[in-house]
Parts: sequence; structure tokens; C-alpha cells
Amino acid sequence: MSLGEFDIIARYFARKSARGDVLLGVGDDAAVLDVHAGRKLVVAMDTIVEGVHFLADSDAADIGYRAIAVNLSDLAAMGAEPAWMTLSLSLPRANEQWLNGFSSGLFELANQYNVALVGGDTVRGPLVITVQIAGWVEADAWLTRSGAKPGDLLFVSGIPGEAAAGLAVMQRHMLGGESAAFLKHRFLRPRPRIELGRQLRAVATAAMDVSDGLLTDLKKLCVASGCGAQLNVDSLPESAAMRELFEADDGLQYALAGGDDYELLFTLPPERAASVLSSLQLQQRVTQIGVITGPAEDGPVQCLRDGQPFRIKRAGYDHFAAGDPQ
Ligand code: ADP
Ligand code: MG
Repeated sequence: MSLGEFDIIARYFARKSARGDVLLGVGDDAAVLDVHAGRKLVVAMDTIVEGVHFLADSDAADIGYRAIAVNLSDLAAMGAEPAWMTLSLSLPRANEQWLNGFSSGLFELANQYNVALVGGDTVRGPLVITVQIAGWVEADAWLTRSGAKPGDLLFVSGIPGEAAAGLAVMQRHMLGGESAAFLKHRFLRPRPRIELGRQLRAVATAAMDVSDGLLTDLKKLCVASGCGAQLNVDSLPESAAMRELFEADDGLQYALAGGDDYELLFTLPPERAASVLSSLQLQQRVTQIGVITGPAEDGPVQCLRDGQPFRIKRAGYDHFAAGDPQ
């Protein structure tokens, strides 16, 4: 049975939202949103592609969840309140079972943050999913990558590397009971750190989300801020699940260069750090992993292990670094 474009939209994506600020949602030529005066609109977009951002045999609900999670993570890094989103869906075929799973994963996370799907586009093509998300901040309080200052303390939320370890568990079909299941879940169901971003909004000097790998993303923060950073490898939070399944060196590699963490990397001025940290209501751990320095000659990020310079084998993910596909 074939399902037309309009059936797909009506059946799976035209859901009424409880948000009063959606004046017109899915169904017309465009959506109309009530934007409060005095707030600033914060907009982000992320595309996920089969074979690049998720495995070809991924569960449809996990793909739907990921499409929203990666976008929410960007708003978290800005300290913004998420509100609305649009969805561009390129599908090879209209498979009802897949659409059912995909939309349930998507709305599961969107509903948790009260984000309304207000429009989109549906086309036939390779499996590519783009979500644009919009939210807001009050007045002039938003977070950027560019505000870090020498002397600031550098923090990361959660445990970087667990998602990459979870991907390895899946790709290698590793057994390992609870630890393997935990790490897989960390890869498949990243928690956007919206609550943390909201609390950091007025106090952090800089913030960004870690999606391509801790070192690569820290470099971006340093370049944007015109600073350097010293990352103390011994301070990285340890994962009990990773310790059980991986050699220490592999674990370190995942923590520094593995992607898909969707944790927040942020900086606090040293004189305020202790009081800010004690006032945070945390749903995950936050760890100081280094300090911001002045610009350094030999690259923006210096890793130290036992006080000695330390180099990792591979850096983080860059879609174009390996050149064009043959
Ligand atoms: P048009 O041909 O005018 O561009 P479409 O047929 O593409 O309109 O879309 C009809 C309505 O359905 C619009 O409101 C559009 O925003 C919405 N829409 C289309 N695809 C999706 C989708 N994947 N998710 C949510 N809304 C969608
Ligand atoms: Mg139109």
C-alpha cells in the first residue's frame, strides 16, 4: 500500500501542540508564531544522514530521537529555551512502520521539552533528516563560544567518551551485559543539557556543546575566544562502564576524540566558579578538566598527563578532513 506525501504529514507529523504561541502550525503554507517582545530568538539547524550520523540499520525511534537531541543540544549550548521546530524529511520510501517509529522517537523528546513541530517538507530521496529549532532567551543573556578569558576554569558535563564507546560496542557487536547496554544507550539517547545551559546563561563566560569530540570542540572554543587551553587528562571523569569493557588508552581516546557526547563544555571565571558550582542544580556531573590560557604558539589546546605534554592518536570528527569521496 502506498502512502502519499499528504498522508505521511497528516498521519505522522500534524500533531496539535499545547503551546499557545503557535498561532498556525502544520497545514498551511507557513507557520505563524507569537514571538514575545523583549525576547531574542535563537535558531539552530542540524542535519543527520544515514551512514554518517547513524548506522544504516538503526532503529527508527532512535533516529527520530537523535534528530531532535542534536538540535536541542545546540540550544542548550546557547542557554536558550527551546520552543518550535521544523522538519525536512528526505525518505527513500514511505514505510509506515518506520514512520511510526521515527515520529514516536521524535515526539518523545520534543514533548519532554514542550517543543512544537510547526512545519516542514517531505520529499523522496536518500534518508536525510534536517531539523531547524528555534527558541529564545530573555533580554541579552545568551551563551557564546567566544567569551572565554585566560584564567577561566574549564568544565565539562557528563562523561565524555561514553557515547563513542557505545558506538564501538554496537559496531563490534560486543557483549558485556549492563555496561554494554548502558554505553549503547549513551550513544543512542543523548540527553540534551538544556537545564544546565539555562542555569549557566548568566554566569558562564563561554559555552558550547561537544558533538565532534572534546579536543576538536575545545579548539573551536579557544579559536573563537582568542585563547588557548590546558586540558588535564588526569582530571577527565572516569566511566565505570568504559573501564569494564575497554583498555584505559582506548577509553582516553574516546574521551578526547570520540564524538556524539552532546555534553556542554563551559568556562567560569575563577573567582566565581565555586559559588556557581555549588548553586547549580545538576542532573549529571560537572568536572573541571582544565584552564583557559593565553594564545599558545603550538596550537590552542595543550593536553597534560602527569604534568607532561600528551598527544592523542586521532583528533575528532571532521566531515571534509579526509578529502572528497572517490
Ligand atoms: P507546500 O507545497 O505549500 O510547500 P507542503 O505540501 O510541502 O506545502 O506542506 C504542507 C504543510 O505540511 C506545510 O504546513 C508544511 O510546513 C507541512 N509539512 C510538510 N512536511 C512536513 C514534515 N515532515 N513535518 C512537519 N510538517 C510538514
Ligand atoms: Mg507552500
